[in-house]
Amino acid sequence: MVVVMNGRSASITIDVDPLRAYRAIHGLRRDGDGDQDRGKGKNGKKGGKSKGAKTKTNTETNTETDLETNLEGEIEGEIETRGKDDVDEGPDARASDPIYTVALPRFWSLIEEIGAPATVFVVGQDATRYAAAFEPAHRTGSEIANHSFAHDYRLSRKGKEEIDEDLERARLQLLPLAGPAGVVGFRAPGYNVSPTLLRCLVSAGYLYDASLLPAPAYFGLRAAAIAAYALARQPSASCVGHPLQFAGPLEPYRMTADRPWKPHPRGALVEIPIACEPTTRIPIIGTTWAMFPAPFRRALLARAQARLGHLNFEMHAIDLLDASDPGIPRDIVARQRDLHIPLSQKIAAFRDLFATLGRVARFRTLRDVAADLMSASSTDAKASKDTRDTPPR
Ligand SMILES: [Zn+2]
Repeated sequence: MVVVMNGRSASITIDVDPLRAYRAIHGLRRDGDGDQDRGKGKNGKKGGKSKGAKTKTNTETNTETDLETNLEGEIEGEIETRGKDDVDEGPDARASDPIYTVALPRFWSLIEEIGAPATVFVVGQDATRYAAAFEPAHRTGSEIANHSFAHDYRLSRKGKEEIDEDLERARLQLLPLAGPAGVVGFRAPGYNVSPTLLRCLVSAGYLYDASLLPAPAYFGLRAAAIAAYALARQPSASCVGHPLQFAGPLEPYRMTADRPWKPHPRGALVEIPIACEPTTRIPIIGTTWAMFPAPFRRALLARAQARLGHLNFEMHAIDLLDASDPGIPRDIVARQRDLHIPLSQKIAAFRDLFATLGRVARFRTLRDVAADLMSASSTDAKASKDTRDTPPR
């Protein structure tokens, strides 16, 4: 059962993935181009070439759309992080990550312009170092949520103990940022969940998960990327994921850990899917919003707004950087083509999006959306004849 939200609402959510996550995504060396000047010199010959030539060539990359690059990048990240449980590059590597020092202030400016609360998914590993970057969360009424401790793309493949440890390490780091409201929301790196991961969320007292992207085309692109990697090099241990995770409902619903794509009236967790256009299921996320021509993206949004009671917009902090910003290694610039879209153009696009959303929807944090849905559906469930105690197969 999908509970139709009472009135139209929207959430602005941002995943604060550090630059080193993009290094992992694109299979770049950890000790690669540390700054733009050095990067320029290397790019000509090595061009961010990874260990064992694990990445696509520049030519291949440059022929892709930004969306494909980003989507496949998620897969590459999964592959590249195999056996790299700890993606921490050490204090120096994180000392001045422009994701926190440049992109986040721009995000808060946009949020304060429209007076909306946001939901901010934070990598626990960086929370203490960059605590000041999250101070606007309090005055904007924004929510701090868990984006795992180390942004390990394989988190969903780990066992209960490791997942429990990761979630708790992240939560402890995020609590000082979150304040009394605590940490009740989670989004998985790479959108991948598993029954074990979701059970861990339930047992840790989480209210909602916001990982699922109900876009079958995304699943197709990802599976194709994994197949290509298997053909080119070696079978991957990366997560194809369950296809049904990419074909679930478009609006928030209660679900069980075993079948998170299937609404269940007494599910222990709320799932808040990432926004897609309802017919084509094209994701309406930061990457697509910045990349698509304005008339096209506005048409997608209009169709989504007409059909969805709640729209959960997801973006990444890197959406608010461009290639001219200092501190972005050239090898990342070469592969993140969305960095080539001028910042002014992206800022204008997001400003347009938030204004459009705000004209018809009330902005809410995911926590508030989930709490209301849980409360409403609990009342409905009591009246339901469906009293099965076991989750569906
Ligand atoms: Zn992420």
